[in-house]
Amino acid sequence: MSRALVLNATYEPLCVVPTRRALVLVLQSKAELLSGTGRVFHASRLSFPEPSVVRLAHFVRVPHQAHVALNRRAVFARDGHRCQYCGAQAENIDHIVPRSKGGQHTWENVVAACKRCNARKRDHMLEESGMRLRRPPSAPKGRQWALVALGTVLPDWEPYLGLPGQFVHLGNASDGAAAFSVRVTPLSA
Ligand SMILES: [Zn+2]
Repeated sequence: MSRALVLNATYEPLCVVPTRRALVLVLQSKAELLSGTGRVFHASRLSFPEPSVVRLAHFVRVPHQAHVALNRRAVFARDGHRCQYCGAQAENIDHIVPRSKGGQHTWENVVAACKRCNARKRDHMLEESGMRLRRPPSAPKGRQWALVALGTVLPDWEPYLGLPGQFVHLGNASDGAAAFSVRVTPLSA
């Protein structure tokens, strides 16, 4: 299923929707088409460009704490697919405070880790392990959350995303939609 990037009236990235949904927004004059995929939708005798980027006609207030679901894919995206202890290619998710010691499955307690560091840390607290985090983990904020959700970023989306390269190419988008949910009431009305 093709997806389109939806920008707020202010050009802030807002969310990603099926291109069909984006087309409906355009046809209802709720959004303007900024970029197309080069393909077309056919409906009876009419054809419409398949949207790739649309911009809402009216500003939508985004809830301050846009909720980003915590899962392996999203954590890897946040951490740039790098082990947060040594910088190697990440292969596992590590709980900083081990779950066996009451550690929560939260953005602040979960990092991407390589196999080696994950095995080395095991059920130790960070202080006992002698290991150090490269940066304190936190929940994705601002434009980051949009990227975490995207999966694959199309080239014509990039100018609107303004993000570090590590977030841009996340590979397969199959579970991308599930990684992300934000209430944008006017869209679902
Ligand atoms: Zn490591």
